[in-house]
Amino acid sequence: MDNRVFFVTATDTGVGKTMTVYALALLLREEGLSVGILKPVQSGGDDAGFLRRRLGLKDSLHELNPFCAAEPVSPHLALRRAKISFDPGRVISALDVLLGRYDIVLVEGAGGLLVPLAENFLMADLAARLDCPLIVVARPGLGTINHTLLTLSEARNRGLEVAGVVICHAASGKKGLAEKNNPQDIRKFGTAPLLGEIPYIRKKDPLSVLAACRKNLDSRPLFIRKADTAVRQEKLDKDFVWHPFTQMKDWLSGTPLVISRARGSYLEDASGCRYIDGVSSLWVTVHGHGHPAITQAVARQAARLDHSTMLGLANAPAAELAGKLVGIAPEGLSKVFYSDNGSTAVEVAVKMSYQYWQNMGQKKKTGICHLANSYHGDTLGGVSIGGIDLFHKVYRGLTFRTHQVDFPDCYRGEYPQDALRAVAVFESFLKKNHVSTAALVLEPIVQGAAGMIMWPAGILKRFEALCRKYDVLLICDEVATGFGRTGTMFACQQEDVRPDLMCVAKGLTGGVLPLAATLTTQKIFDAFVRPYEDMKTFFHGHTFTGNPIACAAALASLDLFRKERTLEKLRPKIGFLARRLDRLRRNEPFVGDIRQRGFMVGIELVEDRATKKPFAWQKRVGVRVCEQARRYGVILRPLGNVIVLMPPLSISEAELDHLVSALERALEDVRGDMTRPWCGC
Ligand SMILES: *Cc1c(COP(=O)(O)O)cnc(C)c1O
Repeated sequence: MDNRVFFVTATDTGVGKTMTVYALALLLREEGLSVGILKPVQSGGDDAGFLRRRLGLKDSLHELNPFCAAEPVSPHLALRRAKISFDPGRVISALDVLLGRYDIVLVEGAGGLLVPLAENFLMADLAARLDCPLIVVARPGLGTINHTLLTLSEARNRGLEVAGVVICHAASGKKGLAEKNNPQDIRKFGTAPLLGEIPYIRKKDPLSVLAACRKNLDSRPLFIRKADTAVRQEKLDKDFVWHPFTQMKDWLSGTPLVISRARGSYLEDASGCRYIDGVSSLWVTVHGHGHPAITQAVARQAARLDHSTMLGLANAPAAELAGKLVGIAPEGLSKVFYSDNGSTAVEVAVKMSYQYWQNMGQKKKTGICHLANSYHGDTLGGVSIGGIDLFHKVYRGLTFRTHQVDFPDCYRGEYPQDALRAVAVFESFLKKNHVSTAALVLEPIVQGAAGMIMWPAGILKRFEALCRKYDVLLICDEVATGFGRTGTMFACQQEDVRPDLMCVAKGLTGGVLPLAATLTTQKIFDAFVRPYEDMKTFFHGHTFTGNPIACAAALASLDLFRKERTLEKLRPKIGFLARRLDRLRRNEPFVGDIRQRGFMVGIELVEDRATKKPFAWQKRVGVRVCEQARRYGVILRPLGNVIVLMPPLSISEAELDHLVSALERALEDVRGDMTRPWCGC
């Protein structure tokens, strides 16, 4: 049995939670398990005392029931009147103590899921914090189907797993039609297994309860072994899935880690191991995983309007979101074209800039410029403007011609002179070729996939100035840098740069659903607004363009930026991370360079710090460090010899510290392996 904690809640108060806990505890004991009880909050009554006496538990009453108020009213009111302030942390500590003593702990809620425990804190929030499956107790009789399904639906919307439903008969009496039919109807309409019924039991001694429950209540559904599920899924993955950017030979010889849940800064595998999501699930997670505001917005929107095409129709979330995006974007960007991933957002920008000049009658302005080491996605348009040979070279035969602007990596050369020289060289190119140049596309300030290459201040502004001077459109690919990553909402805003086109994707929905947008100016838009017969239409669109559910997630995410003051709270954490990384730099001889802009960090590992000599790529030092970090509870994904840190913006300082400490230990381990003499075995 992998689940060691169950949270027993009910459709209402007085339904029979305590009886259910009692009966389940006895049945589980019969399976040879030791069972502890936790009643986090009690207002009136003596459930905890009853269970303690009847089950002969040795824990003190206070250990079983950390929060207790005498008045039989809603817990938040009873606690307030008793001048006790509720603290979920104390419940978690109490649970930890009991888990040290018992195989299983049954936690008994109070009332139902939406009972308040404190201001802005419901029983369901406590269940989520305890992070365990629910057992829902329902009463027999009229109304119970509605109440049970409401509870199951609320649990599902909050991402709470339900292990089963129990119907508890709290009074004697003959079963009517409702009582007889409810169990099968809950089976039919409900979304969780029915564990059974507890009949009315007059005598409450353990033997009588066991005798009454053995054949009516089935605890087996609680025993689903997570480990078996994980092994099956690992096999399915290896049998049928082809992973992106992955040498499948290596993959097939290892054991895949199957992630089955996520919350806050953590990912969790099927066996319940938790890992800090050190790269925000490939640079996307903003407010943490499973943020209720986004989860609920997605659930609401999915139920209301799941999808409707933008070809010929409009939809509410897409319209609302466009307005919001224009509101936060750099000045001048006032039109939003949706697509569904970063590569398509860039393709849209490239096609738009190209067609803009065509529509304007400047037929020769067709050239697209990009920087060395650029990464703009994996579709052929993105690959054409990609400057990373490792990813792009093999497809050169399929791509269109571009002009690559030389640009240094800012670690090995002269800093910042090399970057300034690159800008000057680009200017001489434009002087000669601006008549045939349509656009310059770049990743503003941080070239992510290249290994977190970060530009000296002022470089982006200079590129913008050249574009203006030579009448070339500037496309800023903010797919990685957008939505707070660099400390400001968009990286361009750090140098007050106003691109003609801006691409966003990764963090747009808070990292929850695929959605992308290309923003542009009224001027460019107007070049497409012509009589239909002129053939100036922008002929581009994707089936899922402007998907309402994804747009609803994005709206909820933008709302959180405001409500939770995400960027303001990020500032001190950026400083904390910088100080923590400074310590890493001083102590770790493999660390050649640490580059940080906001919450984008690249840690370049080198063989020799003095000469900056890189590790041979065949040594796969980055991969080894990240594999090792996994053992210390952190998920990372390197870019060659560069370790990337890109935590969710919502991460806490304690979690950041854990992240860097795990990396420190991993580096130490790998260094130990590499410097130890080879023994040939
Ligand atoms: C990730 C990324 C892309 C591609 O986005 P996808 O959603 O993976 O297609 C494009 N540009 C930049 C700068 C990126 O980091």
